[in-house]
Amino acid sequence: MLFVWFIVSCILVSFNTVTRILNSNILKIMLKIITHPNDILRKKTQEIENVLDPKIQQLAQDMIKAMGKGKGIGLAAPQIGKSLSLITIDFQDGPLVLLNPRITYFSKKKEGAEEGCLSLPGKFGQVERSYKIRVKAQDLKGNKIKFKAEGLFARVLQHEIDHLNGILIIDKFIQ
Ligand SMILES: [Zn+2]
Repeated sequence: MLFVWFIVSCILVSFNTVTRILNSNILKIMLKIITHPNDILRKKTQEIENVLDPKIQQLAQDMIKAMGKGKGIGLAAPQIGKSLSLITIDFQDGPLVLLNPRITYFSKKKEGAEEGCLSLPGKFGQVERSYKIRVKAQDLKGNKIKFKAEGLFARVLQHEIDHLNGILIIDKFIQ
């Protein structure tokens, strides 16, 4: 009897593992990154009014997962099919989530560097960006935040915030 129970337990445990693996695969499929051409990548996104809405909180978590899966250092909501003003960035201190971000200052000093985009697989090109910027946004708790960024961090922010305005790197390739 004990032996039978042991077998049943083993089957249940492996069933549970299989379900978990299936669920994580389903999640991956659901978070498919949208590639160009697609209208949603060209639309100006909507401001998020209720930051604390569980759907928004979940979207942010989903985007962090999708960003890891795509091996990108940044992701904007339209890239997973949501026309909302939300970006995630994985730069140095772990994932940063910004809602309704706006760039309030662009330095005159610019730099060119090669960029790629999860929505433009295989396309890379030189893009000129301001070296320093200032950003206003909200965090996931709804707090208003503002900060300065420079170099690569400023570049990633400009790239992702461009997505919120329907702008892609192919619009900005120089040469
Ligand atoms: Zn991009």
